[in-house]
This record gives sequence, C-alpha cells and structure tokens, in this order.
Amino acid sequence: MARDPRYDILFEPVKIGPVTARNRFFQVPHCTGMGSNWPRTHAEMRGQKAQGGWAVVCTEETMIHPSSDALPASSMRLWDDDDIPAFAAAADKVHEHGGLFGIELVHGGFSRSNRTSRMAPLAPSATPNKYPMRPQARAMDLHDIAELRRWHRAAAIRAKQAGADLVYVYAAHNIALPMHFLLPRYNRRNDSYGGRLENRVRLIRELIEDTKDAVGDTVAVALRFAVDERMGEAGLEWQKEGREVVAMLAELPDLWDVNVSGWEHDSKTSRFAQEGYQEDAVSFVKKLTSKPVVVVGRYTSPDAMVRVIRSGIADFIGAARPSIADPFLPRKIEEGRIEDIRECIGCNICISGNNTFVPMRCTQNPTMGEEWRRGWHPEELPARGSDARVLVIGAGPAGLEAARALGARGYDVTLADRARQPGGRVTQEAALPGLAAWARVRDWRLGQIAGMANVAMFMESAMSDRDVLGFGAPHVVLATGATWRRDGIGHANSKTIQGAGRSHVVGPEDVMAGRVTQGPVLIFDDDHGYMAGVLAEKLAAQGLAVTLVTPAAMVSEFTVLTLEQGFIQKRLLEMGVAIRQQRNLAAIEADHVELACIYTGKREQAAAATVVLVTARVSNDQLYHQLARRPDLMEAAGMKSLGVIGDCLSPQTIAAAVYDGHAYARELDAAEPDNPDVPYRREHMMPAPPARQQQGTT
Ligand code: ADP
Ligand code: SF4
Repeated sequence: MARDPRYDILFEPVKIGPVTARNRFFQVPHCTGMGSNWPRTHAEMRGQKAQGGWAVVCTEETMIHPSSDALPASSMRLWDDDDIPAFAAAADKVHEHGGLFGIELVHGGFSRSNRTSRMAPLAPSATPNKYPMRPQARAMDLHDIAELRRWHRAAAIRAKQAGADLVYVYAAHNIALPMHFLLPRYNRRNDSYGGRLENRVRLIRELIEDTKDAVGDTVAVALRFAVDERMGEAGLEWQKEGREVVAMLAELPDLWDVNVSGWEHDSKTSRFAQEGYQEDAVSFVKKLTSKPVVVVGRYTSPDAMVRVIRSGIADFIGAARPSIADPFLPRKIEEGRIEDIRECIGCNICISGNNTFVPMRCTQNPTMGEEWRRGWHPEELPARGSDARVLVIGAGPAGLEAARALGARGYDVTLADRARQPGGRVTQEAALPGLAAWARVRDWRLGQIAGMANVAMFMESAMSDRDVLGFGAPHVVLATGATWRRDGIGHANSKTIQGAGRSHVVGPEDVMAGRVTQGPVLIFDDDHGYMAGVLAEKLAAQGLAVTLVTPAAMVSEFTVLTLEQGFIQKRLLEMGVAIRQQRNLAAIEADHVELACIYTGKREQAAAATVVLVTARVSNDQLYHQLARRPDLMEAAGMKSLGVIGDCLSPQTIAAAVYDGHAYARELDAAEPDNPDVPYRREHMMPAPPARQQQGTT
C-alpha cells in the first residue's frame, strides 16, 4: 500500500550537526533493563527498531564512570575500553538497517548509590541520598569537576569509537549531575558553579563544549534537558529558568531533546495523561533555537505527529514507549498500513521491568526482550508447522494473541468465548476511570484477526468438555482467565476472612459491572496492584463514601514500579476517599468491619454497607482439569495437545497473558529446543564451553 501523502512530512530527512537523519522518527534514550548486563539482548532490540524505520535509535542512560554506578540496575556503562564492544554491537545492528545510533552519556551524581564501586556519591553540595549503604553524597570541589569533565570527554571518545553518530549530554529527570548543578535546591555553592543561573548552568555548557571539541567533527552532540519539573515554584519552571537555560544555550548543541521531569511526569501513564501531554511545557523551545528539536508525548497517531511538526513544536517525533509497543511504527506509516500500528497503551509495564532490574517486557509487544534470547521478531512468525486445526477457548488477551499469532502463521483457528463481547478482562478494565486506552490490547488483535480468512471467532459460545471433544480439533488451548476471590485469601490472610460469605461482600467484577450502589463502601486492597485504587476512584466518582483499607504502607503499592503510585494516592485523597494503611481486615459484620493494626493487632471498627475484596484471583481451570484427566477421551477425539495459557495457567498481568498466548502460538509444532529445561539463550558473563557455544548458548 502507498503512503498517505498527508504523512510525507514525517519522512523528510533532517540534518543534525554533521549527520543526517533519514526521517523524523527519533527513538529517544530509554531504559530497557538490558543495558550492559544483557548486551546482545540490547543490541538485537535496538537493531529491530532501526529495521522498523526509526531514523535515530539511542541507548538508555550510559554511565561514564564508576562514581556513577547504577548497579544492580542494568543501565549501560562506558567506563573503559572494555565496555566498547557492547555499544559497537548495537551500533552495527542499527547501522545495518540504515539508522543513526545515539549514546546518552550520564553522570548520575547523588542519584546513584555506587553499590558495587563503593565510591562516595558526588553532588554539587553535600546532600543526603536515598540509599542506606551510602546515605550521603559529598560536595565536589573544582578538581572533582575537572575530573568529571575528563571522564565525560573520554566516554564521548569511546562512544565515537563504538560507532555512535550522536552523543548526548544529559540534564533531565533530576537524576543527572548537570541537572543537580542547575537546581538551587541541590546547589548551594558560592563559587563559579553556584549562585546565579549563568554559574549553575556552567557545567552543562562545558560538557557540551567538551563533547563537541572531542567528537563533534563527525558526531552530533545532543542535549537532553527537562525544561520543567511539574513542581510549580518549588522546582524548575519552563516559563522561568527553564526558558532562560534554553535561551542561553540555544545554538550550542546540535539538537535539543526536551521533556519534563521527573521520570513519572515524563513517562506518565495513560491513566493520568493523554497523547501530547508535554506540549504545554516544551512548545516554546523551537522558537528560541535554529537547531532541531525532539519532543515526546506517547505519540502513536500519525495525524498528531503531523500536527506537532506543522505547528512548529518540534522537528522530530521522539518516542520511547510507542517504539517499544511497535518497533515498526514508522515503517507501517510509510507503507500506508496505519491500522497495523500496535499502539502503546500507556501502562508502564515496560518500566516496571526496568525497575525490577530485568529486561523489560511490554503489554502490547510480546516479543520485546525476546529478540536475541528466543530469536523473536515483532513482525515475523515462522510458517505453520502442520495443517492441524487449533481451537482457542477464551478471547481475553491470552486467547486473542494466540489466535492472532496462530492465524499469522497460517493455522486454521477457531476462537470461542462465552461472553457477548471479546476482550475478557481488558474489556472490563478498560471501562474503569482512565483505563480506556487499555482496550487497544483487544482492538489491535481483533483488527488483525478480522483480516484473516483462516481465523473464525465465535462469541456467546460457552465450551464444555463435551463440546471440546466433539469439536475435533487436534490442538486445543485454554485461555479461560481467572476470577477474583470472594474469601479474602491473599498476601495478608491465608484463611478465609471471617464474614466473607455475607451477602454484602463483593468482588471487583461486581464493581466493574456497576452492581455496587450501596455506600458506605469499604475496599480491602491486599492485591497491591492498580485494581483497588481504580475501583475506589470509580465508586467515589459515583458519589459513594469510600474507605480503602490496605495492610501495605501505601495505596496500590506495586504501582510504584509503573511510576503511578503518587498520582493514585493524590487522586484518591482529593476525591475524599478515606485511606487506612497498615490495617488488615479481621472480620466482616452486618454493617461494619473490624480492622486490625498489622503491627499491634489493635482493633478498630469501620462502617461498611458494601465490602469489596481485592485480594487475589483463582484460575478458571475447571475445563482444563476435566479434559486433562481423560487422556483416553482426548485421544479418541483426535486431540494431540491440550494447552493452557494466560490467567487460566496462573493469574497474572495482562502483559504476561499476551506473552503466554504469543509463546504458545509461536512454538506450536516447533522443533524441541536443544535444552528443553532452559529453552532460550542466555548471556553468560564467562564464555561457555565450546560444546555449548555450538548449541548457541553463548
Ligand atoms: P486472559 O487474561 O488469560 O486472557 P481473561 O479473563 O481476560 O483471561 O479472558 C478469559 C476469557 O475466557 C473470557 O472472555 C471468558 O468469557 C472466556 N471463557 C472462560 N471460560 C470459558 C468457557 N468455558 N468457554 C468459552 N469461553 C470461556
Ligand atoms: Fe506502552 Fe505498556 Fe508496552 Fe510500555 S508496556 S510500551 S506503556 S504498552
């Protein structure tokens, strides 16, 4: 299909100092949890982005010296020449597909704990940091600053040796030393690096000048700068010093990559921000510089991208998450395949991978993180291994992805679900406040399946064991999901909560179906994900009095990993939800509940006309067990395999369910892996013995 001429502007080349980007799609630096710990994983993933059409593909933050040691977080390290091959591997992959390769050099200052290097963290002025093993950072003297500049320069030279086309100076997210120097709350110096703005910005200026001097003849030098901290007068504001800094340095870097800070504002979830959510703060930049400008804002719509360019906000569409959810987004626009774009849902599961120090995963893109280790490609699937038919039961995220990927492989697929609407839990949850974008998990897959003559979907088709056996498909896979418990068993309670059987005790499904109308409502959150918090928001918006009780120290505790926790608790407090933290639910009576302090056991009462238990889920695996215990009947019916995926296998994230569905589809009829016990390649710190290297397990 041909490209829509409306989008031609997105494919114009743009000059960045000494290099030229082939189009306006710019994969900005983003964390992956891969970094220098998983260099092959990282290189393959970045290469696929370039193959997918991104003109510029950057690394995540790259530490320049052991005094900025992020371990065990897996960012990149360019401390000495031994680190160069990890970058060269990625550069080669990106170049192979016609992209420019960028490296984001960082010194994290006191944001880094130096847990392995054991060096004292560095800061403009002595300051506490949040790591108990090194709880204070020391103030840098002028010699330290000279050393910092030397390290940065040396790292820039190594970056060039590794094949970088673009090198960053990083002053964003308030986790970078140059940003710490800029901000008066961290910088209390009274020398030439402290006091008035010219002095506080000096280090940023010097690092740009040093980098240009070291490598700027052939390598572009970018500045990543957060123009606003979203803290009002307590922090940097784009209307004040943010703007002044841009004006002062306007023509110095070859490229401005601008955003807002901290990371939770920059990578805001769709629950709290819509596409283009940074435009209010960053739009001024282009008016102050003739250099190309990159902005981000979870752009997935080509029309929004064209608007950004045409209205003079930016020269490049920057993207982290949209490029993770769909590494081939530019190619799809270029080829006129807009409906094939797999749009990011803004859930930040990718970030939770990074924040737990493992290669990231993505709700929408199950191949993310598996490019090298399993050899998965986001757009390519092996042809089917047989002409056997496949019956998929359950059209939630797991079943939809299994059906889609099986269909793409060429299998003859029947997808059956007892519900009226497809989508399973995603259809229910996308109706909750702020979660509408999650429906993209369902809609993209439905859109793909709609174009496949070999995939038939049947709704309102509840399947029993007799139905399955009678259907006669050689392969059957169950994706029948899970149900929230009604007995209260969860993290804090291993036995049924007293009174859980009462008629006014309900589960999340009841709230989502609109069946809860009676207040006061007490929500017991012993799940700690997003669910209890978003149900509280829904019920409070209905005008009901809501109390949220949790044994944790905060509401929706696990959402710290998706950068949302602060926004969630703030919203609930502003809506008047009463929050009782560090309390267990001891007993449910007719019109009230008994709460118990998790430390002292001290009891207190809270009124409740409705109690919502958000604790854990149980798999809907009855059908699976009915079939699995009768291999004789399955054989007689011609069944060769019975699979189980998603929440039916084990209640889990939507991302994990999609992954399960994809893995099932990809591996059906595939050859046994060399080592079925460890069915993927691993990155070994030490070279593997030659025999295992031959099996591809280096
Ligand atoms: P997952 O996240 O693993 O995909 P979901 O709970 O989102 O799981 O989806 C499970 C789907 O399976 C739901 O749409 C549900 O209606 C369907 N389902 C459950 N049991 C049956 C069954 N016996 N026959 C047909 N569909 C079923
Ligand atoms: Fe987007 Fe969620 Fe994928 Fe991250 S995990 S890229 S936020 S869909």
